[in-house]
Amino acid sequence: ERMMEIRRLNCNPMTMKVTYYKKPVFVHQGYMQWLWDVDGKRYLDLFAGVATVIAGHCHPKVTAAAEQQLKRLWHTTNIYVNPFIHEYCEKLASYLPDPLKVIYLTNSGSEANDLAMLMARLHTGNYDIITFRGSYHGGSTSAMGLTSVEAYKFPIANGIGCTNTMCPDVFRGLWGGSHCRDSPVQTIRECSCAQGHCMAQEQYIGQLQETLATSVSRRIAAFFAEPLQGIGGAVQYPKNYLKEAYKLVRERGGVCISDEVQTGFGRTGSHFWGFQGHDVIPDIVTLAKGIGNGFPMGAIVTTPEIAASFAKGAHFNTFGGNPLACVVASSVLDTIQENSLQQNCLHVGTYLMIELAKLRDKYEIIGDVRGKGLHIGVEMVEDRVSRAPLSPQAISEIFEDIKDMGVLIGKGGMYGQTFRIKPSMCITMEDADFFIAVFNKSIHNYMEKK
Ligand code: PMP
Repeated sequence: ERMMEIRRLNCNPMTMKVTYYKKPVFVHQGYMQWLWDVDGKRYLDLFAGVATVIAGHCHPKVTAAAEQQLKRLWHTTNIYVNPFIHEYCEKLASYLPDPLKVIYLTNSGSEANDLAMLMARLHTGNYDIITFRGSYHGGSTSAMGLTSVEAYKFPIANGIGCTNTMCPDVFRGLWGGSHCRDSPVQTIRECSCAQGHCMAQEQYIGQLQETLATSVSRRIAAFFAEPLQGIGGAVQYPKNYLKEAYKLVRERGGVCISDEVQTGFGRTGSHFWGFQGHDVIPDIVTLAKGIGNGFPMGAIVTTPEIAASFAKGAHFNTFGGNPLACVVASSVLDTIQENSLQQNCLHVGTYLMIELAKLRDKYEIIGDVRGKGLHIGVEMVEDRVSRAPLSPQAISEIFEDIKDMGVLIGKGGMYGQTFRIKPSMCITMEDADFFIAVFNKSIHNYMEKK
């Protein structure tokens, strides 16, 4: 195992630490919600390649579609017409409300957000962009400027890695993940997290107004929001916040962008798209992750008006919308529908939230349980009074213990204090029970040692 790790580090060094760095998992094979390591140990995968493998690893229907297409046609670039692109785009468009009907295909979420930013600037003629604290929108040079979580940034200036809210490129003055301990509005009962997702609506709106009024040019190109923050730790907005925010941004001439990279394709359970849970229709939607069930792909969906502004320039990418990706993605949409994966997501997700809330009431180090469908965050704190984020060592101990008991989950939040549960949408109630038992045991083990 150590040899394999050294080989990997030599040929493919990572800036991000491998999860479970105390003892990495050497994944070898996957099927539906399960992964196997090189020794044959089976894991219940509740992170699904970071919320990506939505239908399940090597899902038989998606795999069969890919196999068939592998023998037919892989790649042409999109300067030729082929039926696979438009068949897929028509299908995807049918899942979106008017006027979101124009689709561009990319290779990743970062590329989709880069392009969305470009489109917004071309369309509005404005430059400033607003994103949230706790946001993650990508790791490419431009998209990194939209991202707020420090762990995913490089310390260079000018909107690329800049944390200065006065940087001329991107503003991050908004809340959505800071110390709600400083906020007077919530009680422990409402919120015992270490982040600021529980501020009142007026405070959120106040922050937005301030940001709109103090941006460098005072001319907003775009407002980026994940309907439910992903890497930020399943941070939610107050109920009507996005609706009001969209109105304010549009009044100032900006366009509203919904990053659905994690929330799309039914993951929030109650809706197919995260924005539908906020009763808004964005001007641009960006997609990736679940779109290809693990096949690299991304997309932007926008309105004919914005597409017309974009058409004034020329945009080309070699792989975006290649026939193989389109066929896979098309089969993913069919699979979600045929297997009622969104409904399952709501069913199992709701159950998990109820059971996790019971554990929160039992253990004071579980500060908060939040999320929607199978997009769940469990925030760990030192105690209910200080609400300080649980230390990285403690988080790591619990995390590794859960893995040793056969379950893989994720970590996130501004301080790495939030466990993230984003499995394939095919998991069962039995899987949920298994995880709850394992999580309970891991916290019990930690408390005993403490
Ligand atoms: N937006 C969100 C909300 C994400 O979670 C991610 C990836 N974690 C991205 C964008 C970037 O996607 P990719 O890694 O495919 O570039």
